[in-house]
Amino acid sequence: MRVGSGIDVHAFGPGDCIMLGGVRIAHSRGIVAHSDGDVLLHALVDALLGAAGLGDIGQHFPDSDPRWKGADSARFVSATLQLLEQAGQRVINADLTLLAEAPKIGPWRESIRGNVARLLGLPPACVNIKATTTEHLGFVGRSEGLTAMATVLIDGR
Ligand code: MG
Repeated sequence: MRVGSGIDVHAFGPGDCIMLGGVRIAHSRGIVAHSDGDVLLHALVDALLGAAGLGDIGQHFPDSDPRWKGADSARFVSATLQLLEQAGQRVINADLTLLAEAPKIGPWRESIRGNVARLLGLPPACVNIKATTTEHLGFVGRSEGLTAMATVLIDGR
């Protein structure tokens, strides 16, 4: 078994919704990003790549590549799962944490969990979604952006 961790940060910008775990959530701000700026999925992809010893998201999906402009981050997850499959690895579970003052994800937690589980081909019980504020400290606390962290466990098939 192998463990991997991932972290991602994006700044808020103009807009009226954000993507979290592949779920569109109405918000007073949008996200500044080359892709759809889904911090939860980006952290997840880095955790998966890390667990498999396959580098990081920037190497596989560079933000200089026009192919990934506005990309649905679910595509990064599926492409990464294919890499894991080629490496003979499967995902056991994923634990994701969002750091944000807003939006509060309570109402969306189960849809995010279900969607991430579906993307990973796992039962929802194998995916956990947590959220915390930073008590108004730092860039997250000033609502300048979002941070996500992910931990995954993978195992050989
Ligand atoms: Mg990112």
